[in-house]
Amino acid sequence: MFRRLGIGGRLFLAFLCITGLSLSSGIASWLILRHIAAAQAVVNAQALPAVAATQHTAELSAKLVATAPALAAVQSRAALSAEQTKLSRLAQEMVASLDEARKLAIDTQLVEEFAGAVEKMLANLKSNYEFVRQRLEEDAAYRDSAEKVTEAAQSILLLSETLISNASAGASAVTANLYGLIGDPSRREDAYNAIDRLIEHDIFLMERMYELRHRSAQISLLVNRLTRAESGMEIKEISHIFQDHMTVIRRRILGIDDPVRRKQALEFFSAIETAAGDVPVAGSLFGRRQRVVDLIGHLDTIAAANRDLSAKQNVVARSILDRSGEFARTTAERADHALRIGVVVLVLTLLGAVLVSGGIVWLYVERNLVRRLGGLSRAMQRLTAGDLAVQVAEDGDDELRTMAVAVNRFRDESQRRLDLEQERERITVELKRHREELQQLVEEQTEQIRLVNTQLRQEALDHAEAREHAEQASSAKSAFLATMSHEIRTPMTGMLGMMRLLADTKLSSTQRKHLSIAANSGEALLGILNAILDYSKIESGNVVLEQVDFDMATLVEGVVAFMRPIATEKGLDFSFHIDRKLSPAFSGDATKIRQVLFNLVSNAIKFTQHGEVRVEVAGKEAGKGSQRVVVSIADSGIGISPEQQEHIFQAFTQTDASITRRFGGTGLGLAISRELARLMGAELKVESVEGEGSTFTFEIAMKTARRPSRVQMRQRATKPTSALNILMVEDDEATRLVADTVLSKAGHHVRAVSSGYAAVEAVADFKPDILVMDISLPGIDGLEAMKRVRKALDSPGLPVIAMSAHVFTSEVERYLNSGVDAFVAKPIIDEQLIEAIAALSDRVPTATLLAAFDEAACKADVHALGLEVVQRLYRIAQDSLPRRFEAMHEALRSNNRKALRDLAHATKSSAGSLGFPRLLAAAVALETASAAASIEEVAQIVVECEAAFADGSAQLSQILSADRPIERTAAE
Ligand code: ADP
Repeated sequence: MFRRLGIGGRLFLAFLCITGLSLSSGIASWLILRHIAAAQAVVNAQALPAVAATQHTAELSAKLVATAPALAAVQSRAALSAEQTKLSRLAQEMVASLDEARKLAIDTQLVEEFAGAVEKMLANLKSNYEFVRQRLEEDAAYRDSAEKVTEAAQSILLLSETLISNASAGASAVTANLYGLIGDPSRREDAYNAIDRLIEHDIFLMERMYELRHRSAQISLLVNRLTRAESGMEIKEISHIFQDHMTVIRRRILGIDDPVRRKQALEFFSAIETAAGDVPVAGSLFGRRQRVVDLIGHLDTIAAANRDLSAKQNVVARSILDRSGEFARTTAERADHALRIGVVVLVLTLLGAVLVSGGIVWLYVERNLVRRLGGLSRAMQRLTAGDLAVQVAEDGDDELRTMAVAVNRFRDESQRRLDLEQERERITVELKRHREELQQLVEEQTEQIRLVNTQLRQEALDHAEAREHAEQASSAKSAFLATMSHEIRTPMTGMLGMMRLLADTKLSSTQRKHLSIAANSGEALLGILNAILDYSKIESGNVVLEQVDFDMATLVEGVVAFMRPIATEKGLDFSFHIDRKLSPAFSGDATKIRQVLFNLVSNAIKFTQHGEVRVEVAGKEAGKGSQRVVVSIADSGIGISPEQQEHIFQAFTQTDASITRRFGGTGLGLAISRELARLMGAELKVESVEGEGSTFTFEIAMKTARRPSRVQMRQRATKPTSALNILMVEDDEATRLVADTVLSKAGHHVRAVSSGYAAVEAVADFKPDILVMDISLPGIDGLEAMKRVRKALDSPGLPVIAMSAHVFTSEVERYLNSGVDAFVAKPIIDEQLIEAIAALSDRVPTATLLAAFDEAACKADVHALGLEVVQRLYRIAQDSLPRRFEAMHEALRSNNRKALRDLAHATKSSAGSLGFPRLLAAAVALETASAAASIEEVAQIVVECEAAFADGSAQLSQILSADRPIERTAAE
């Protein structure tokens, strides 16, 4: 198994052994240190505290022993109680200390022995206290009795002294009397008797009283002696003497002659007897003294016992201390011993580790590895020096053997490579020869290619020149187209304006028909010109994208509303759908999107005869702050074949010639739309099946915005307006005439001038409510003229409408930013101008209502047509207009917008020919509003139409019936 391990495994085992040995010496030292630490911990945690606890207990015991004599000596209850308190505190401390000593006990038996002695001592002290208490009680009782006995004895003593003095006085008297008797011999007998009596009675009495005094004095002395007596024997002896004295005292008292005195003395005597009690009964004076003496004896005994116990405790405490010291010493010695053994073990383990490691290194690493590696290294050096005769011994069964095999293989391989190298050198020489031949061949070929290249470069230069020419020609074409279309537009504008004016004059039906055809052709031509102009601007790169905030949904709704009448006229189902997810506002080029949408929707309506046209707008998320807006216009019209789909986006391309015949058009709409879409980063695509319909789609990524900005060309309902003072500045006479006529016919007071300077001058005597001006004027331009007029009027908010043929959005935006309030494109379309005026009329503070009836116009008509004709016209109007209003209400009810528009259009003509400005304004408003405004707004305008007609009719009929004043005036 050892063989199978390999060098890595073996080295690992060897190092594992060495590491194991180092680890074992480490573990040995760790165990020793742990042992020493444990021993020291035992000394610290057990031996030393045990010594301290024992010492403390012994000290307390000594204090307890010292308490005993003090306790025994107390003479009052207060002192006893103080000693008792001290004793209990010491006892408690003792118990606590004993507990501590028990816990830390090294020799439990000794501690228990010590505790036994202490407990005994505590019990003794308790008895001691009890004996002292009894002693105090007995002593007090004894002293009380002794005092009474002493008092009674003293009383008897005093009494005996009185009796002695009495007896002495009697004897003296007898003696004195004797002298008289002795001198009188007759009375000798009496003298002898008196002497007898003196001797037998008085002297004897005196002697007995003396004895009584002596004995009662002895009683007091005996009581004193008894109080000092310290043994039972002495008490017994005193008691005998006391009894003797008492017996004699009794007899002597009984011998007192004086009964009163005798009785007194007997009372004292019985008092002594009562106080002394029966001898030797325990309750007697002697019994009590005996008890006190006994108690003192007990106390002495206990004190002696305590002293013994204390001595014993000291011995036991000494033993405990010795034991603890012994224990600490033994533990320390053990730790020392462990340390010595540890050091020896450590040294031995280290020596072993060093020897085994050395053995391993020498036996295995040096002999087995280093030597063989040295051999291998030498062989390798020789091999790298190019000596291929090296032979390495392949012995052993490990990686070194594998290395030896590898070195031998390497040697064989080097030998083979040497052979190959020689072969390669031979081949290289061969190849070099071939290459030299080939190089010569290539040089010849390269020369030929260089010649061809020069020719090709020349051709490329020629092509570039040709392309440049072509590009120049293309931009010249674009410029030409732009200039031409622009230049043609201006006269076209004049022509169309004039035709409109002409249409408002009296014409025969043929003339009117021809005029209508001419006007239609003019409009169509203008449309083509506009398309060409747009396209050439795109081609020449003159189109710049605008960035305005707008509402996409409103924009689509506007286009749909605008185109709806045409779709409805064709009987198509025209619908649109706005995705809910669509942002409410975007920032982008609204005008261009609208243009593309207009073109696609008008194509869809144009190429669809039946079915439907549907506009859909969807919003897709395209990162934060932007959306991809997908617009699709689908129709069920004639469709486009796959081949045609490839061409329709090219300029001037239609699917086939018949289309131009059937539907008209320039073939520019889709080209313009695709280019505009591309400018906005979108691709206009078509999907179509011939005969089934087409769907045009484009997808624009736009930034979402907070709110739509000022809408430049909004679709809005126009309210009937008031009569205003309008200052008009236009240098082109035709346009001036057209605009003047349009505005005057709408009931406004117009002052028309041809230059900016004239306009500034005009405001001296004409106070305009609105300024209508051309932008391109001779002298100062329209914007400058606007500033000067506003300044001259001191009215910076004067509403201004700009007119221009420059219909590019950037320019319109520029005008609006310079302070212009509205913009009307040339050629002037009546409705647009009237609508713009109406839109701004809200801002004119002093506007008056338009006149319902234009008397001057009426007079002119009467003058031109004759009163008859005018009256007939009025009668027709009176007949037809109320019916038309009726029809309007009907159309309102069915929401028939087209009918409303037609009715409004017809009313507009009638109002114009009748000279009813207010009705005209209302009809114009109705025509515009019928396309897109809400039904309520439209209804309101219908009501205004009725009111305007009623007013105008009232005034006109008054004039017509008023004694023909008009005719007269006209004739005049
Ligand atoms: P035009 O001014 O002639 O309409 P456009 O560029 O707009 O020019 O259209 C090019 C041609 O593409 C049209 O003449 C028509 O043949 C075809 N086309 C465009 N839109 C539709 C559609 N919705 N359905 C069928 N054909 C269409």
